[in-house]
Amino acid sequence: MLQTAQSARVSVDGRTYLAFCSNDYLGLASDPRLARAAQEGCGRYGVGAGASHLILGHSEAHHALEEALARFVALPRVLLFSTGYMANIGMVTALAGRDDAVFADRLNHASLNDACLLSRAQFRRYPHCDLEALEKLLSATRARRRLIVTDAVFSMDGDIAPLPRLVELAERHDAWLLVDDAHGFGILGDRGRGVLSHFGIATPRVIYMATLGKAAGVFGAFVAGEPAAVETLVQRARSYVYTTATPPLLAYAALESLRLIEEEQWRRERLAQLIRVLQGGLAANRWRLLRSDTAIQPLMIGDNADALEVADRLGQRGLLVPAIRPPTVPQGTARLRISLSAAHGEDDVARLAEVLNDIARQ
Ligand SMILES: *Cc1c(COP(=O)(O)O)cnc(C)c1O
Repeated sequence: MLQTAQSARVSVDGRTYLAFCSNDYLGLASDPRLARAAQEGCGRYGVGAGASHLILGHSEAHHALEEALARFVALPRVLLFSTGYMANIGMVTALAGRDDAVFADRLNHASLNDACLLSRAQFRRYPHCDLEALEKLLSATRARRRLIVTDAVFSMDGDIAPLPRLVELAERHDAWLLVDDAHGFGILGDRGRGVLSHFGIATPRVIYMATLGKAAGVFGAFVAGEPAAVETLVQRARSYVYTTATPPLLAYAALESLRLIEEEQWRRERLAQLIRVLQGGLAANRWRLLRSDTAIQPLMIGDNADALEVADRLGQRGLLVPAIRPPTVPQGTARLRISLSAAHGEDDVARLAEVLNDIARQ
């Protein structure tokens, strides 16, 4: 059990660890300025929203955050959801139904898969980033409406989806492209604007979703896109309509987080430097570090028991790294999911590499 705020050094069950487990990629989750913003928001708006957005739960803090996010990601309209899970469920089920088809990367996040199943559309999964296979599926479909659904940064691999080519396919086959940027928002692109900025993509075919509980260090999520598509969500996304709005104090804190994401470029530079330190430190290790330019740096172990044992030995030496096993990842690809954060120092990452090299030699 975690007894401290989320950070590079945490206390778990009475012991202090250097941790590589969180999605707090920019080190903002325990930033005192965010905590102060949350307190100030609490002072103004109290704790609970008290109602759903469409009744009287939509506060000026939610509104200001939606406007700021739309400007930041350069899309016309934004809708806040309570969590990324709920955003994905709402987005896919509002846009696809019985006569439609959704095409999904096999390594998409569980919430997208659940959303596709719940939509009752035809659900076709294509092998990871295999655009030829996707094109075949798109050519064969006779569905009325077609949605391509993908993670922008794959959460257990750290690689980035080939979005420019996915946009081409979406245009060629008159499909929507739904992009889940949970791990790219705040990290990729100009000032952390996310994966669309990273690739310079601007098209009305994209519906963009990102979360506020990872790099942004707060809680919540949003969907952004063309006004008509977002209006469809307001009308039909059941995980938006039939739920209490998130506490406005969190929207207020997220506004401050957005300011820090945009202004503190050094956090992304630090992350890039830490990735280099890790890659250099593990270059001669017998386990392979997957190629990733994001904060997610998986070390491929293979066997489930081995992965658990390595994680356990790291723990004994004061380092926390989660072992990820099937069914979260495919059979035979158990791995350590090392996640880096701007809260880490270079010496922290060097220490992790040194201990991992030590364990690999035993
Ligand atoms: C974490 C995550 C989500 C869910 O977001 P929450 O806000 O934690 O519910 C959705 N998609 C991806 C790819 C994620 O990594």
